[in-house]
Amino acid sequence: MIGLPSPALVIGAGPAGLMAADTMLAAGLPVIVAEAKPSPARKLLMAGKSGLNLTKDEPFERFIARYDEAAPWLAPIIARFGPPEIMRWAQNHGQDVFTGSSGRVFPRAMKASPLLRRWLKDLAARGLDLRLRWRWAGFRGDALVFDTPQGEALLNPAVTVLALGGKSWSRLGSDGAWLPWLEKKGVKITPFAPANMGFRINWSAHMQPHFGAPVKNLRLMAGAQTSRGEIVITSKGIEGGGLYPLAKTLRCGAPLLLDLFPDHDETRLRARLAARPARESSTARLRKALRLDAARLALVLECARPLPRDPAQLAALLKALRVPLGPPAPIDEAISVAGGINRAALNDDLMLKALPGIFAAGEMLDWEAPTGGYLLTACLATGLHAGRAAARWSIAQRHGADDQPAHG
Ligand SMILES: Cc1cc2nc3c(=O)[nH]c(=O)nc-3n(C[C@H](O)[C@H](O)[C@H](O)COP(=O)(O)OP(=O)(O)OC[C@H]3O[C@@H](n4cnc5c(N)ncnc54)[C@H](O)[C@@H]3O)c2cc1C
Repeated sequence: MIGLPSPALVIGAGPAGLMAADTMLAAGLPVIVAEAKPSPARKLLMAGKSGLNLTKDEPFERFIARYDEAAPWLAPIIARFGPPEIMRWAQNHGQDVFTGSSGRVFPRAMKASPLLRRWLKDLAARGLDLRLRWRWAGFRGDALVFDTPQGEALLNPAVTVLALGGKSWSRLGSDGAWLPWLEKKGVKITPFAPANMGFRINWSAHMQPHFGAPVKNLRLMAGAQTSRGEIVITSKGIEGGGLYPLAKTLRCGAPLLLDLFPDHDETRLRARLAARPARESSTARLRKALRLDAARLALVLECARPLPRDPAQLAALLKALRVPLGPPAPIDEAISVAGGINRAALNDDLMLKALPGIFAAGEMLDWEAPTGGYLLTACLATGLHAGRAAARWSIAQRHGADDQPAHG
């Protein structure tokens, strides 16, 4: 006789955890999701504030390459739930999507809230037991301990998916508190580092009027990597979409060079600078010959004072301005993290080798990718993969237990 399935547990109601829960519900398991915060998926909602970039519509080879060292093990996982599947999934949850000129895919509503609302409604209708303000606080023996509004609770589920996120924007829920608990159980962890983050710069007082100003249409270069986009000058340094694809290389110590005129070649810039009267200062030439706006000009003066007078040297400077970067911004300010549960600690099903029956998904795993939809794609895909495998494992355990001869 086959007994009733005991509930599966998911810890963390972000996109990875909700996708794992969705998958296990679909496999017929009752599912409890324990979430520390008073409401689910706060980081997903925050991601939607500046336009929810769900995924990127580009050839699979190019897409998967953005995960660098993690690409080989993520490839089979994302091949089963990648950009086309995510677009369909969003549409099935009532969200019309569109692809921008860069290939980035967004819901038409741009925000995450309509998608999340519809997803949660669907999960609730299928019986999801979502327990808010349930904070996992570690292990007691084999049991999982929770701080809940009703006091301490111990759970000993047949199968668990951990989806607690990384360690950035901790006020939204993912604080990395789980790291020592898993390490103590023998799970190999790669230390966390900020990813997709800004960098500190010790600006002089001259930069103050430009704090908050974007510097658009740049080519950014670090090591062998380049990106096109903008940076924003902040009181503490720089941040912005053009910088994030290079953040990993910069974190490893490569210098940052800016091409302030990516659509003009150096010869043309030199000719325009040389056409100005010789008595004119370099600053005036930049302003008059090239119409440098205030923020661009301030950046040039800050990074390269005293400016050369020779038009050839000045043109070369504009094509490769070295920015005196300080350290990366603290991890709590980063869009995402590098590090987390090491791949060697997991089997192909994303089950922790040291803790059979416990699976993991999302940003708490050790992979890193730039912004552009790669982050949510990997979270949703690993959530689905871990959820499917966890359901299989749970069902196999149940059959195994039912096949055992009765004792006593
Ligand atoms: C400002 C910003 C903008 C972003 N924009 C984009 C974007 O446009 N596109 C994109 O692809 N990505 C974007 N991201 C990244 C993306 O939001 C994350 O990668 C993704 O949310 C991670 O999903 P996750 O489920 O792994 O973790 P999370 O979303 O962090 O969810 C983890 C959940 O676990 C809960 N939790 C943590 N600890 C415990 C505990 N002890 N007990 C119980 N529950 C716990 C947390 O409260 C949280 O709800 C953005 C991130 C930020 C900060």
